[in-house]
Amino acid sequence: MNAARIPLVAGNWKMNTTVPEGLALASELRALALPDGVEVAVLPPFTHLWPLYDALGGRFALGAQDAFWEDAGAYTGEISPASLSGWCDYVLVGHSERRHLLGETDEQVSHKLRRALTHDLRVIVAVGETLDERERGSTIDVVRRQISAAFEGVCLAELERCVVAYEPVWAIGTGHTATPEHAQEVCHVIRTLLDELDPAADGERQRILYGGSVTGENAAALFGEHDIDGGLVGGASLNPAEFFAIIVAAARSGAIT
Ligand code: PEP
Repeated sequence: MNAARIPLVAGNWKMNTTVPEGLALASELRALALPDGVEVAVLPPFTHLWPLYDALGGRFALGAQDAFWEDAGAYTGEISPASLSGWCDYVLVGHSERRHLLGETDEQVSHKLRRALTHDLRVIVAVGETLDERERGSTIDVVRRQISAAFEGVCLAELERCVVAYEPVWAIGTGHTATPEHAQEVCHVIRTLLDELDPAADGERQRILYGGSVTGENAAALFGEHDIDGGLVGGASLNPAEFFAIIVAAARSGAIT
């Protein structure tokens, strides 16, 4: 973590909790004494977004787990970024579960990113290699391809509204967290790639998150790395005590370095 960047911890609830369960979880989160110096976002299922907008009491940023690449039309079941704009803070695009379980392509991720950026939304762009790609030694090539495809045509002002989350697919939901050294190495490459997107870009200002089995126990070591500015957290974000420990680790990492 670099002190110039405010760490972000984003809790991705995925397809977990019913609306009443989500409201109960939100009220537990709301009771937490959040430390200063860290931004915390909650990304619940779509059905929960509107009720949580009130229930979180403005103390947490709110994010959607995805949004479509058109604003309106005959796209049954999709969610328009226009419908999120003005009250939702973040949209996540390119999560590996969408890329690998639902067949989302680099091009579709890019369309989603660009459409979301036409609205008053910040975008978390998730990238990361599969185990097979890692074992073949192509982690950096995969991440480079995903970043270049996603950010093609994105201008500097828009880039500044983006956060990249490095999430190795083999670490998501598996308990096999990347080592801080591995995560740092890839996040550093991502920062360099972001720098290269525009001659005026300043990669040092971009926030880059690590995601993949982050827990209260391993968060401090991960967030202590120079190029890791917080986490995208799945499973642990459903447990308020665990999520709180991760938030505290992120706040400390911002204060120390
Ligand atoms: C995620 O959903 O983006 C994620 C990183 O999940 P987990 O923390 O459960 O590995």
